[in-house]
Order: sequence, then structure tokens, then C-alpha cells
Amino acid sequence: MSRTWHVLGVGSLGALWACRLDRAGVPVQLLLRNTARLQAYHDAGGLRLIEGDQTRVHCLPATTANSDEPITRLLLACKAYDAQAAITRIADRLAPGAEVILLQNGMGSQQAVARMLPQARCLYASTTEGAYRASDFQTVFAGQGLTWLGDADPGRAEAPVALLADLVQAGIAHQWTDDIESRLWRKLALNCAINPLTVLHGCRNGALADHPDEVAALCAELAKLLRACGQTAAADGLHEEVQRVIQATAANYSSMYQDVDQGRRTEVDYLLGYACTAALDHQCEVPGLQRLQARLTKALHKP
Ligand code: NAP
Repeated sequence: MSRTWHVLGVGSLGALWACRLDRAGVPVQLLLRNTARLQAYHDAGGLRLIEGDQTRVHCLPATTANSDEPITRLLLACKAYDAQAAITRIADRLAPGAEVILLQNGMGSQQAVARMLPQARCLYASTTEGAYRASDFQTVFAGQGLTWLGDADPGRAEAPVALLADLVQAGIAHQWTDDIESRLWRKLALNCAINPLTVLHGCRNGALADHPDEVAALCAELAKLLRACGQTAAADGLHEEVQRVIQATAANYSSMYQDVDQGRRTEVDYLLGYACTAALDHQCEVPGLQRLQARLTKALHKP
């Protein structure tokens, strides 16, 4: 019998994981923010996962984060800026050796959460899957992809075999890596090279092909920063990959563009903000990234 997966953060990705695990017969328990959200979940009659023209309803058990049942496996699937507050609510329910998967984008929040949970085994994740909420508790699986997983402690090499077996059973495409930090840095760099410019130019990813010099200069600085942080593998071929992503996702709006467009808070502090702070820490000069951050901050705070 598999351990129960507790899912904290029942939004786009949290629901996508919960429904696929449930479909495979893996026990899942949802943790909602408060009694109002729990009531809204019951009123909705469960989670709905929409894949192509199929909609499936998953009536999963749910409680608020305040209940006191011990947790041995947790998926934390809220936004980076909510991660620490969310985990604080349930930290004392985590059993010694509990596995905690951190799905947040960017960097900084995962490391902060891992520091808060010395009794747990924290795993970082970086995914290329895509999902969005059609409405409350209704998730659309918008893009197939792959989720990289690795231990927060790079010295701990052995893979969590039972957890990965559940992912296989649930059909969640994944790959275990001994160097998840490198994956996180690479994704952060891709995000920093593309997302802020799509906001500032008000465009889809593909339109960045009209600004090749700006993109090239950012990639050069990001690669320099990655090398200064000891992330050589993440730096290699960055510009070429950014160009490939711009081309392959030409018709898409970046997640940051969508957040700004829909008046939602962005995760910029965990992307460009994290990069600029890391540059200061490593005394690595990145004037272009700093100018980009200043322009973006001004644009985001425009009344
Ligand atoms: P989302 O749809 O906004 O869902 C976040 C969920 O977290 C919401 O349901 C929210 O609850 C919940 N939450 C926040 N604070 C909470 C708390 N204290 N207690 C309980 N629940 C709490 O976000 P998402 O798109 O799934 O993204 C999650 C992370 O994955 C982000 O870092 C994102 O960048 C990353 N990511 C997402 C995708 C994607 O395609 N969606 C792809 C790659 C990476 P309420 O519903 O009550 O507000």
C-alpha cells in the first residue's frame, strides 16, 4: 500500500498531480487553505481534470491544513511567494523522514522551505508540464512535459524508490537527477531571458525574435552569472536554448506576461530578483540584468 500523498496547494499543478495519482489508485488527501475553501471544494463536487475533450471528476478526501493527521509524503504546489507561509501551517505534522516535493518555479523559496524542515527529506522539482485553472477546482492539462526531481541535499544520491514508483503508476513523466540545482538554475536563466522582456514589450514569446541583440546580451550576462555561481553545465549553450524556446513557444504568452495581464502577483522575486541577488553575493557584474529588473519593477508598479 502506497503512502498517502498530501497535496498542499490545490491549484493548477497540485490538482493535475492529485487527479493523476488518484486515477492510478494512489491514496491522495487534499489540504485546503481554510474552511471557506474546503466548503467551496465540497460545493464544486470534487476536482475536475480536463484533458482534450475529456473531463473526469475526482472526489478526493480533503481537510483544512489545520487538521492533525501525520503527513509522510507531501506535494507543496503553491506559488513560490506562498510556500513558506503554507508550510508553516503543517510543519509540525510532518513525520520524521517525510518526503516533501517542492514544485515552485524559480529559486529561493525551495531552499527556504528546506531549511524550515530539518526532519524531512525535501525534493526539488522542475517541470515543463503546463496546466491552468478553467475555474475553481477545474484544471486543464494544457501541455505534456517532463518533471525533473532531485534531493535538496546534493550529497544524498539514492532515489526515493517508492515515491518514484507512484509517479510511474500515475503516468507522471519524470526523471530523477543527482544535480537538481543545475536544472533549477537553467530554468531560472531561461525564464529571466524571456519572461521579463515579454512583459516589457507586451508580446508573445515569438516576438522576442525581433529583439535579438537584447536577448543575446541578457544570455551572455546570465551565463556569466551561472559560471560565477559554479553552475557551468547550466551556462553552456544557454543562448542557443533560449533561441530554441522562443521559436518553439512562439505563439505562447509567458507565465509572467499572463500573471501581469490578469492582475495576479508575479514570481519575479524568485526569478530575476534571485538572479540579481546572487550576482551581488558573487560580486558578478550584471548591469543589463539590473537595468532589466529596474524597468520591470517600474512597469509592475505602474498605477
Ligand atoms: P496556482 O494555480 O495559483 O495554485 C496555487 C494554489 O496554492 C492555489 O490553489 C492556492 O489556494 C494554494 N495556496 C496558496 N497558499 C496556500 C496556503 N497557505 N494553504 C493552502 N493552499 C494555499 O499555481 P500553479 O500554476 O499550480 O503553480 C504552482 C507552482 O508551480 C508555481 O511556482 C508555478 O510557477 C509552478 N509552475 C506552474 C506551471 C503551470 O503550468 N501551472 C508550470 C510550471 C511551473 P487558493 O485556491 O485557495 O488560492
